[in-house]
Amino acid sequence: MAPVKPAARFIADCNGLDFLNSGNRSQSIELDWLASGERLISWLEQCGLVPREVLRQMRSNTEQKALDRVASRARELREWLRGFVNQRCGRPLVGVDISNLKLLNDILVGDEQYYQVVAPELDGSVLTLQSLRRWVAPESLLRPIAEAVAKLICETDFTQIRTCEGCSLMFVDRTRRQARKWCSMSTCGNRAKQAAHRSRRKPPPG
Ligand SMILES: [Zn+2]
Repeated sequence: MAPVKPAARFIADCNGLDFLNSGNRSQSIELDWLASGERLISWLEQCGLVPREVLRQMRSNTEQKALDRVASRARELREWLRGFVNQRCGRPLVGVDISNLKLLNDILVGDEQYYQVVAPELDGSVLTLQSLRRWVAPESLLRPIAEAVAKLICETDFTQIRTCEGCSLMFVDRTRRQARKWCSMSTCGNRAKQAAHRSRRKPPPG
């Protein structure tokens, strides 16, 4: 039986940082959710950035090689974002930071978004402007990712970006007291609590 792969984690409270947390170059294929086209599609399915039906069609109508190329571009964007965030997190972005955005903007320029007025409520009383997207090529899968990255850069307070004290995952601390330390209490938070408990119970030396 194949070993159970660890599930992707979405703990950042921000799609752009969840994308950053999808893995890194030094990890094995099992841990990097962008290691191949198939892994990328699976990650997109879990995070909900692309409708399931679109992913199903991409999977059945696209050559593996073409999807692998898209995954390679996604990895390139992710590693660029890692450098961008690591250099700037903990302080507000200033004008001089907004350089070197070509990689991101080159993906955004191909976006095929459009709007529709829809009535989501059954009684039709509330009309909403809904943003939709045409999925014309495998590269379209990169657009919602780039949009999430752009929103991270343009709309997120970089002073609230933190790295989990127990692992390397990043998140936005949106708590009122700005006291979030962990990716999640059920994993790293719990481990730290247990370690603190063990060290309190140790007999004094001597
Ligand atoms: Zn953690």
